[in-house]
Amino acid sequence: MKIGFVGLGHMGAPMARNLLKAGHSLVVYDVVQRNVDALKAGGAGAANSAARAADEAELVITMLPSSPHVKTVYLGNEGVLAGVRPGVTLIDSSTIDPHTAREVAVLAAEHGNPMADAPVSGGTGGAEAGTLTFMVGGDAGVFEKIAPVLRHMGKNIVHCGESGTGQVAKICNNLLLGITMIGVSEAMNLGVALGIDAKVLAGIINTSSGRCWSSDTYNPYPGVMENVPAARGYTGGFGADLMLKDLGLAVDAAKLSKQPAMLGALAQQLYQLFSAQGAGGQDFSAIINLYRQKS
Ligand code: NAD
Repeated sequence: MKIGFVGLGHMGAPMARNLLKAGHSLVVYDVVQRNVDALKAGGAGAANSAARAADEAELVITMLPSSPHVKTVYLGNEGVLAGVRPGVTLIDSSTIDPHTAREVAVLAAEHGNPMADAPVSGGTGGAEAGTLTFMVGGDAGVFEKIAPVLRHMGKNIVHCGESGTGQVAKICNNLLLGITMIGVSEAMNLGVALGIDAKVLAGIINTSSGRCWSSDTYNPYPGVMENVPAARGYTGGFGADLMLKDLGLAVDAAKLSKQPAMLGALAQQLYQLFSAQGAGGQDFSAIINLYRQKS
């Protein structure tokens, strides 16, 4: 299939490479030329705008930082809708707010292009390995059509419901993840300060009712687990600034829909403080250092 791919960053580049590996023909675009050149070296065609990446495509996929970028790339003068033929399906895999996802999908539909939001989880490792989870919002017919292509980049492809619900699933999961990581940090720090060994405490939590992914798969306390960011100075993994962004999306969505999100708002503030201290580039589990600095 001829695919137009826009946004070749940490996630987009390996996703695009997996599509090439699966035999698709790609025309790619990114505002950073070296990102385009790297994919070109791997066999992709290069375009000098999102419109040109889309104009001969049978499917368009975008992987961009946030909502304003998605609006520019789809709706701008040189954007996808300015180039793409009516009838071609559009997939945005960026993590953005559900409101913007729905707004852009409505405008795309008016242009004759069905659109799905399909944010991912699994990080850069999952993008490289082709094992991402895709949370898809859009018509069932669109889902059936795009699922085979998404399977070349992911392992779990889930239809969440109508337009925007992929983003809803993504931000609700990350809202909970941000909160549990802070909860595990608080409990681990308190336990060690009160005299228990960190590994012993983690072992108890992980066989008791406090167990969660943040405690048993990604424990933030150094020395508890191997092969997690806490074991390598909080490098790699999922950046604290990305968690801050996702908590902001969840809190804003809660505000728009007049729903309470008290713990999410507190988690957002803690990540904001952490980022203001210059630590936003570290893995999000490094949030435990807010506690360890104080103790
Ligand atoms: P990134 O910043 O590495 O990549 C984004 C790319 O988009 C960059 O190459 C940038 O140059 C390009 N871009 C920006 N504006 C553009 C424009 N107007 N036209 C064309 N290209 C443009 O970000 P990433 O880590 O690849 O993340 C992409 C999305 O995936 C984000 O929404 C993020 O929240 C989400 N996500 C990231 C991870 C992760 O672990 N990195 C995991 C899950 C989801």
